[in-house]
Amino acid sequence: MHTTALVLFSGGQDSTTCLAQALSRYQRVETVGFDYGQRHSVELQARLVVLQQLRAQFPQWAGKLGEDHVLDLAVLGQVSETSLTRDTAFKMESSGLPNTFVPGRNLLFLTLAAALAYRRDLQVLVTGVCETDFSGYPDCRDDTIKAMQLALSLGMDKRFLIDTPLMWIDKAATWSMAEALGGPALVELVIEHTHTCYLGDRTHRQDWGYGCGACPACELRSRGYAAYAAGLPAR
Ligand code: ZN
Repeated sequence: MHTTALVLFSGGQDSTTCLAQALSRYQRVETVGFDYGQRHSVELQARLVVLQQLRAQFPQWAGKLGEDHVLDLAVLGQVSETSLTRDTAFKMESSGLPNTFVPGRNLLFLTLAAALAYRRDLQVLVTGVCETDFSGYPDCRDDTIKAMQLALSLGMDKRFLIDTPLMWIDKAATWSMAEALGGPALVELVIEHTHTCYLGDRTHRQDWGYGCGACPACELRSRGYAAYAAGLPAR
């Protein structure tokens, strides 16, 4: 029986929904975020606001929500040059992956999260990776996650479970999941306080939240919200 979890929490829509699910499923939940010199600290600020709002608006979860950890991963900027950490334009690379791809980033996140979970005696790692409608990052695929679960469990001699609630659902279903978990109040919280936009735009308020409305992350969030709002499955 798994009762404790560490949620990889970025302050975005996906990880916020995963956090809500973990809070409804496990008895003790902690969060971890990574500071790797993102171009905008908007994400890191959003995390704190979302945690505060969850505590304030959902008393049934507040008691389960434990410590928040932020790990410094500035080293990522030394090993990779991408549009997430540098001021370069977004484009698709010849590999077919967007230039937001940091090779192995998610492997590193999971490894550090597991080390932290080991120390904090937490059984489950929860991550919002999704094979269905994101940019095809290979380290977010189900097979990679399964392999990591095995490698981490063997390498740390502790049985970890990696829980990926969003792996096979699309963005419209992610909105529906938030509604099922926390009702309209959680959907509102996700709209108002989570951050997705690659450009760090918090000035333009769309019906699905703040963002430029044009970058790939905004487009995905906007399309998913439109499909959710229309009550139709997203494509
Ligand atoms: Zn945007």
